[in-house]
Amino acid sequence: MIMNKHYFPLTLILCFLFGCSDEPLVQEVVTTPNAVTSEQYLWDLTDLYPDLSAWQVAKEKAAQQIKDLTKLQGTLGNSSATLLSASDQISAVYKDVVRIYVHANLNADVDTRIAENQERSQLARNLFSDLSAAISWYNPELLALGEKTIAQFLAQEPELAKHGFSINDALRRAPHTLVSEIETLLAKTSKLTSGANSIYSVFANANMPWPTVTLSNGKEVRLSQAGYSAGRQATSREDRKMVFDTFWSVWQDYEATLGAIMNSQIQGLAFKTDARNYKSSLGRALFDDNMPPEVYETLVAEVNQSLPTLHRYFKLRKRMLGIKDEMRYYDIYPPLVNLNKQFSIEDSIEVTRRALKPLGAEYMAAYDLGVKNRWMHVYPSEGKRSGAYMSGGAYDVHPYVLLNHNDDFESASTFAHEYGHAVHSVLANAQQPWETAGYSTFIAETASIMNEMLLQDMVIEEAKTDDEKLFYLGIGLEALRGTFYRQTMFAEFELKINQEVESGNVLTGSKLSSMYLELLKRYHGHDQGVITIDDLYSIEWAYIPHFYYDFYVFQYATSIAAASGLAKQISTGNQQAQQDFITLLKAGGSNYPYELMRKAGIDMATPAPYRALVERMNKIMDEMETILDRG
Ligand SMILES: [Zn+2]
Repeated sequence: MIMNKHYFPLTLILCFLFGCSDEPLVQEVVTTPNAVTSEQYLWDLTDLYPDLSAWQVAKEKAAQQIKDLTKLQGTLGNSSATLLSASDQISAVYKDVVRIYVHANLNADVDTRIAENQERSQLARNLFSDLSAAISWYNPELLALGEKTIAQFLAQEPELAKHGFSINDALRRAPHTLVSEIETLLAKTSKLTSGANSIYSVFANANMPWPTVTLSNGKEVRLSQAGYSAGRQATSREDRKMVFDTFWSVWQDYEATLGAIMNSQIQGLAFKTDARNYKSSLGRALFDDNMPPEVYETLVAEVNQSLPTLHRYFKLRKRMLGIKDEMRYYDIYPPLVNLNKQFSIEDSIEVTRRALKPLGAEYMAAYDLGVKNRWMHVYPSEGKRSGAYMSGGAYDVHPYVLLNHNDDFESASTFAHEYGHAVHSVLANAQQPWETAGYSTFIAETASIMNEMLLQDMVIEEAKTDDEKLFYLGIGLEALRGTFYRQTMFAEFELKINQEVESGNVLTGSKLSSMYLELLKRYHGHDQGVITIDDLYSIEWAYIPHFYYDFYVFQYATSIAAASGLAKQISTGNQQAQQDFITLLKAGGSNYPYELMRKAGIDMATPAPYRALVERMNKIMDEMETILDRG
């Protein structure tokens, strides 16, 4: 496919552009008393199109151009010049479609209640599928030319170089590309195989009969997904236990149904794997980014080997929460230390600027360009989409950043994260042609998480009181647990359930629960008396939407490990590492992510990056224990 795959499929757009966390995305409006809407903190969409009628004109023009692309069919093999001309035309239309899509989405997200804006966003999405259908002949035609002819064309026509990566990638996919009739048929099955995810999503978000509980302070909480996220952090242990027991009992009631939906999803993946001649679903998923299987294997092996570090954290948590008897699964979420320190958006900009300084002048110039211009929509408001994301697809314009800045440290950290994506896009877009500017999720998240780590390290260093220091250290620690250990546990579960189906078996709710329970116990040290896991919580697998994303979760763990490795190199003032990092960002999507990261000094198939993360985690705990022992 000539289109840069990082914009496809749509699930990836959702995860990448809109940020996936390990918990279900909560569609809840958070309104703060801060009603500042100075123009400076509202993004300026006129940089994309002067007004909606200009957007409309662009959309209609693109629709016509998409239709015209079908006329190019049959021309690729004529000469290197016709291959170039066809590839250029497709590429140009694709670039316009992305810009149209970015505008429609940003506009819709500012106030999701406006139906016309939602409709525009849907229309822009349709352009993607129309485009995809209009050029479905491209790859088969390219493959039919054969490697030799393609190599000749590439040598004859230097202008083809910008398409070289995707052309060669199409060749790499040849063993898994089928004859055109079967490709068409397979494309049509996607509507069937995506059914499980849609059913799950409606069921888990809209149809679950959420119960209401009364906390010890008399407050009533409806345990929806959002209510559970808040309730599980309760300071009273009895409250937490009640929240857990009530919430998971509801899920438990639907174990059989949720199991049948999951079975349908995984059977669908196995079908895709089989039809395309892959040995396993994991192999198929890794093939996409050309990620060596050793990365996945090393991740899982290293995490299992370092479980004692996770268990050390749980013991420290038990001490800080003052739990005298057994530690339970519901003791994982309450914050270790509370801090009432305000971070206004100006503070966030300022602390991030100081924290990112080691990344060098070029990085900081791009950062300043962003914060001084109207690239971001800062504060929450009625109807605005929740969460945060960076949208960097408008190649000729600039990145946009959506925040819901809440004036706390978490908001500052999110700001640093999203600007990691924004600067990445600025540097990649400046260095790369459109065709190779789009980068992978793995590299994107690595760059952003590293920014969060640099910020953390700085505020820990500068903290004025022990409590403040413990607060930041605690946040850093919890991020490592949630993103490295928990996501790897998910990744192990995902692999196991896929293997179960691949070996001809069927998944049921109770089978899934017992597989999940084994992992929960192993990761949380149940047998070693670290955390006692009650059987009821084994239904947690049903609550995680990411098991419908086809081997997505392991990337959270590899990204945070790579980020630890990079942060370790850069924070020691290693000039070469800093330069390699900038080169990595500028490389965009000009090579496969594993290769790019290896050139930046981080080899994900070796234990080093994972061990750097574990070392970071132990160092945080050393610091915390020193403070606690002193007090
Ligand atoms: Zn991100």
